[in-house]
Parts: sequence; C-alpha cells; structure tokens
Amino acid sequence: MKQKSRKAKKGKGQPESDLRTPIVCVMGHVDHGKTTLLDKIRGTTIADGEAGAITQHIGATEIPLAVITEVCGPLFRGDFQIPGLLFIDTPGHHSFTSLRSRGGSLADLAVLIVDVNEGFQPQTIESINILKRYRTPFVVAANKIDRISGWLPVEGAPLAATLKAQSERVRGDLDNRIYELVGELYKQGFNSDRYDRISDFTKNIGVVPISSISGEGVADLLMVLLGLAQKFLKENLKVRASGPGVGTILEVKEERGLGTTLDVILYDGEFRSGDTIVVGTLKEPIVTKIRALLKPRPLSEIRSEERFLPVKHVAAASGVKVSAPKIESALAGSTIRVVSEDEDVDAVAQEIRSELETARIDTENVGVIIKTDTIGSLEALVGELESKEIPIHAADVGPITRRDVIRAAAIQDPLYSAVLGFNVKILPDALTEVQKSDVPIFLSEVIYNLLENYDDWVEDQKMRME
Ligand code: GDP
Repeated sequence: MKQKSRKAKKGKGQPESDLRTPIVCVMGHVDHGKTTLLDKIRGTTIADGEAGAITQHIGATEIPLAVITEVCGPLFRGDFQIPGLLFIDTPGHHSFTSLRSRGGSLADLAVLIVDVNEGFQPQTIESINILKRYRTPFVVAANKIDRISGWLPVEGAPLAATLKAQSERVRGDLDNRIYELVGELYKQGFNSDRYDRISDFTKNIGVVPISSISGEGVADLLMVLLGLAQKFLKENLKVRASGPGVGTILEVKEERGLGTTLDVILYDGEFRSGDTIVVGTLKEPIVTKIRALLKPRPLSEIRSEERFLPVKHVAAASGVKVSAPKIESALAGSTIRVVSEDEDVDAVAQEIRSELETARIDTENVGVIIKTDTIGSLEALVGELESKEIPIHAADVGPITRRDVIRAAAIQDPLYSAVLGFNVKILPDALTEVQKSDVPIFLSEVIYNLLENYDDWVEDQKMRME
C-alpha cells in the first residue's frame, strides 16, 4: 500500500517500476571537468525539462527518466524501467570512498572523466583502483573534445551530429586520443572502445567523447548510463516494498534552528519521521528517533525564510537531511539504519559497530600507522598499501592522537616508523609528541600524494642508512 502511493507520486508518464533510481558518482583527476559536467547535466535537464523537473536532493540531484528521454531525443531507444538517475553532487574520489554502503560502494555506477588532452593522470588511476575494488560498473567520459584544435562546436549535440560537423583531420585527432585512452584502460585490465562502436557494455567499457562546456555528447553519456544501469543493476536495484531504511551519512552538520543534522543518502528502504534509528559513531552507535526529515525547498519557493521543507517519508534512492536528538558524535561515512518493530535494537547496533571494527587493523607486526576520516577511505587506503606491499601496524578512523605517535615511535624498523593521515587533523598533544620523537606524519587529501610522500621519505631513509 505504502509502495503504491509512492509510485503514484513519481508522476505521470513514468513507467511502473520495481527498480529504484541508480546512484551515480562522477570521478576523475582534478580539473578534468567533474564539477562542470555535473553543472551541465543539471543545466541541460533544467533548460529542456518540459516533461518534468529535476529534483534537488540533499547532496544529490535526481534526473527523472522522462527528462532524460527528452534530452536524448532520437538517441533514446529501449524500454527502461529505471525511474531516472541520482547524481551525487560532490564529485571526486574522496567523496566516493566516503560513500560506502554495506557490501561495497554506495554508487551503483560511476562516470570516470578524463581530459582527452591530458589522458590518464594519477587520480584517474586512483579512481580506477577504487572502482575495481568495489566492482562498480563505469563509463569513461572523454572530456574537453572542444579543445582539440580546429574543433567546430555544435552546442548540446549528440555525438553523431558533432562528429559530422568536424573535418577529417579533427575526427582523426579525436580518434587517436580515444585510442590512447583505450590503451590506458587496457593496461588497467579493461577492454573498451568508443561507445558507438561497441554493442555490449557488460563486456566492454564505453568511452564517450564529450564537452562539458558545450554539452556535446552529454546526451550520449546519459544514454550509456541508463543502458549500464538497466543491464548491470536489475537485481541490485530492487526496491524493498517495505522494510527498514538504510543510508550512508554524507555529512554531520550544524543547521541554524535545527541543531545537529545528518545529510544522508538513503539507498535502501524507507525513512519516516518518528522511526527508531541506529547511527554509527567512532565508538558505540547512537540509538535515537528521527525528529524530522528535510528536503531542499523547491526553487519556486526559494524566497521562503526556511531553506528546508519537512517531509514525512522518503524512499530510496534519495538524499535527505535527518534531524534527531543525540547525534552530535555521528560519524560521516558510517551507516544510519532504521530499526523495525520486530528487530532487536542491540543486534542492529552491534551490526553497525562491527562495520568499523572490521575496517580497523590492529596487529603486533611491524608496519605504518594510518588514520583516515571515514570507514570508506580507511578501506581504500588499506587496499592501496596492501597492493604496494607496505605493511600496516594499525589502521583506524579519527584524528591523529598522541597514542598513534607513540606507537609509531615504538616500531623498530625505521622505514615503517611513520603515521599516514588521510583527510584528518593532528591533535595538539600528538604534535608535542612528534617534537619529542621525530616520527614523521604524512597528511594529504589525495591517497596518491600521501603514498608518494611516504615513498620519497622511505627512499631518503634508505640513502641515509647506506
Ligand atoms: P574538476 O576539478 O574535475 O571538478 O574540474 P572542473 O569542472 O572544475 O573544470 C576544470 C576547468 O576545466 C574549468 O576551468 C572548466 O571550465 C574547464 N572545463 C571543464 N570541462 C570542459 C570542457 O569540456 N571544455 C573546456 N574547454 N573546458 C572545460
């Protein structure tokens, strides 16, 4: 019954569907165009959206199928049961690693964006490693094609029209760049080709040439994403008709008049105000009740004093702000889960607690100490260190403490007596300890840079030891 009323709300012209909206994340090297692409997707669909409006969520934007149909025009082929696509607004692999769900990545699909003029860069590879680890299907957006010399822009056009307008030389130039990307992808273990030359995206990765500025190829990109979602995710996207909502906390935020709130991506089930929830922290999970569920106020009502609109109910996939008592110590990147009446609160709390426990590493062996901001980034960094065969003595979520420095100082092997912090702060007493013990601390918001800095230091240490 509940399920029915939600479907009815989805709007006219929407196919009846068992599938929830797939969650899509845009990743890639800095400056390759992640933000511009997200803006373009939002802009295009707002401008052309006769069939229905896009919906702004907390931390995400939903593009309904009807809008994609319209944007894609004659490109749109096939019978899609997916209600649309939910794009996570914060681009980049950092948000991706934080956006973890039980069982893997929160994002069902990803767009890996690569500047065709620069090719693969360190964060491109880092993004691919993350996609591999979580087995996330993805499409490559070969961006900035308008920068190819001699390019004739065809505003907002699908790829076929765009290519037609170019000279033989420009087309050849684009092809060469695409082949370079195909070569790089092959080195990473993937078969790929320009998307209009492949027929089965489950076997090959489509490379879609686009310009995030002019919008050329963006409609093609949306089509490929729909196709991927339909083929790969049919099983995973089944909406649970009823059942407890499960989400990932994007941010813990103070809001004026509301106190502490949680920005959450709900990826399974439903939230209702009044629901009992368990929320992950660094220590014991919090058990509390949803006081209010808030969505961004629609653009048409933007003059209102209040930025958020209370709603009684939300269903996956959705971005929503949760207001609840006692949530000050909630941990970004951890789970928020509704406890239904027939479930045991303690058992659910234990389940959520164990997520952090299993991500932690605490051994007696020699190795480095790592600290990160979220469970997802901890898993990603541990994965990277393991692939480089760098041993880990301890790995945990949270700021760098005095204890971390003392433990690192006690490591006998001078090459591992170090603390690596990903997107975390150093507490003042830890700094005092560093001055005493000389233990190096490496800090970065990019895994690649963190490892590179550590590697450089190791090389330096080795030279000194010789
Ligand atoms: P991000 O760091 O990956 O989010 O990259 P941005 O979206 O901020 O883009 C970096 C720069 O590249 C900005 O100056 C954009 O205007 C520019 N840019 C992004 N996409 C394109 C494109 O398709 N064509 C051109 N010419 N410039 C682009």
